[in-house]
This record gives sequence, structure tokens and C-alpha cells, in this order.
Amino acid sequence: SPPWRTEVAGTSTVAGVLRAAAQQLAGTSDTARLDAELLMAHALGVSRSDLLLRHMGAISPALLDRFNHLLDRRLRSEPVAYILGYQEFRDLNFAVNAHVLIPRADSETTLQAALDAAPGSARVLDCGTGSGALLLSFLHERPGSSGIGIDASAQALGVAACNCESLGLTGRAQFFVRDWNQPGWAEQLGRFDLILSNPPYVEADAQLDSSVRDFEPAQALFAGPDGLDDYRALIPQLPALLEPGGVAVLEIGATQAGAVTQIATQSGFTVQCHEDLGGRPRALVLRLGLG
Ligand code: GLN
Repeated sequence: SPPWRTEVAGTSTVAGVLRAAAQQLAGTSDTARLDAELLMAHALGVSRSDLLLRHMGAISPALLDRFNHLLDRRLRSEPVAYILGYQEFRDLNFAVNAHVLIPRADSETTLQAALDAAPGSARVLDCGTGSGALLLSFLHERPGSSGIGIDASAQALGVAACNCESLGLTGRAQFFVRDWNQPGWAEQLGRFDLILSNPPYVEADAQLDSSVRDFEPAQALFAGPDGLDDYRALIPQLPALLEPGGVAVLEIGATQAGAVTQIATQSGFTVQCHEDLGGRPRALVLRLGLG
């Protein structure tokens, strides 16, 4: 359609609907315009760049209907990733649903710390793997590696296994329901060159956005009054799971570096801290012995 149509035709064009939707979403989302574009691209079954380059003209009633349904979910604070059914993490797409935490840019710091710290042929354990984002990204980047993802949620592991297959990593990762708060959870797993974990680390009474609090799994977020319960449970068990020279890389909350370092030191670890893109402490690298 001619370029001027989108300027004057209001909501009879995709461009007009996007403008109106972005205004409506402004109270719900910090990324209102982006969200509207992602939902429209999804309704159309095209990429966001295709949407912006080729599909801004007239909107059909059927498309408007599909879009409004998605917009309605977002207006109720449901995260875009759950509406679309996937989230990009680094350069891969991960299927997600309400059984798994949505992979966050924060965790790219954790992944990078692991890539920097571990050998290319590592045998990897991911504790609380969720969608599998950390483990599967590591395996994708390091073709000689293999690993195990554990999670207390069988439904989460269903998502991880699906991602493993769609990323072409079948045979290099296995998934088991295990809960590190239960005795014997680590039996028969063996030892690992790299242990990854983005455990729950949010304080029980933390103020979270509705899109997080009301939609993401509480089990993946909250870890007692100070958010440290899972570090206290997990870290003392790590030495017995590491190969000689092995390394553990743990994601932490921005205010937890000191407390988690103390827990790790008590278990004999030397600790190195990595900051995220905002300059906040985000990942700890734990090594036994002199480091
Ligand atoms: N970074 C997440 C948040 O603040 C928490 C992730 C976690 O608990 N592992 O929402």
C-alpha cells in the first residue's frame, strides 16, 4: 500500500493499531512499543523486521482479532515470552511456558563466566535447569561438552528436553527430576568439570512486578526470607560433585555477593565475582583449593 496510508488511516492499518496498542500498554510495560510489535509479528507469523518492512499497511479483521487476543493477555501483565511461547537468550530461541523462569539477560553474564572458566570438553551439571537455557547454551557453544540438567519440576524438564531437541543437542544432555533439598538427590550423577546454577534467590517479601510475581513459577524465584536458602543447601554439596580442578558458576542477586561468598568460603571454595552489563555483581565462580 502507498506509504501515506499508514499515516492517515488510523486503526485500519497495522501501523495505526500498533500506535494505539503501544499507548494502551504504556501503563503495563516499560517496553510498550516493542511488545506491541512482537505481538503483531506473532499474530502475523512473521519476524519483527518483516513486520516493520512489509506489513504495516491495511489490517484484516481476522488479524486484528488475533492481535487483540494477544494484546489482552499482555494488558493483564502476562509476560511477552509466555504469550509468544519463546524467549531469545544470547543467540538461541528457547521455548518457555509458565513452568519455567523466562531466561533473562542477567543470566548471559552467568553463561559467559562459565564459558570463560570451563574447558571446552566439560562434563556439565546444571542445577535447577528450568528451560535449559544455561546448560544448552553452554553445550551449543562448546561442541565437545555434554551434560545433565536437574530440576525439582518435571514439567520444567519437559520444556528443557523440548529445547534440547529443537536446538539439535539430543544425546548431549540428559534431564532428571532431582531436588537438592532431598537427601540422596545427587546419587549416581557422577562428577563434573562444571556445575552451573541459577537457583531461586529472591527474598520472600521482595517487591516484584506483577508480570513476574503473578506469572513466573514461585518455585524458581523465592528462596526464604533472605533469598539465600538454596545457596545454603546447595553449595556445601558441590565439592563432592566436582572433578579435581572443576568449577562451579552460580548466578546471584545483585546484593548477595558478600553473603554467598561467605557460604562458599566455608565450604572451602575460592570465589571470583563477575559483574553484569549494569556493573552489578551477578555471577560467582567457585574453585576448590588455591584457585
Ligand atoms: N533475576 C530474577 C529476578 O529478579 C530472579 C532469578 C532467580 O531467582 N534465579 O526476577
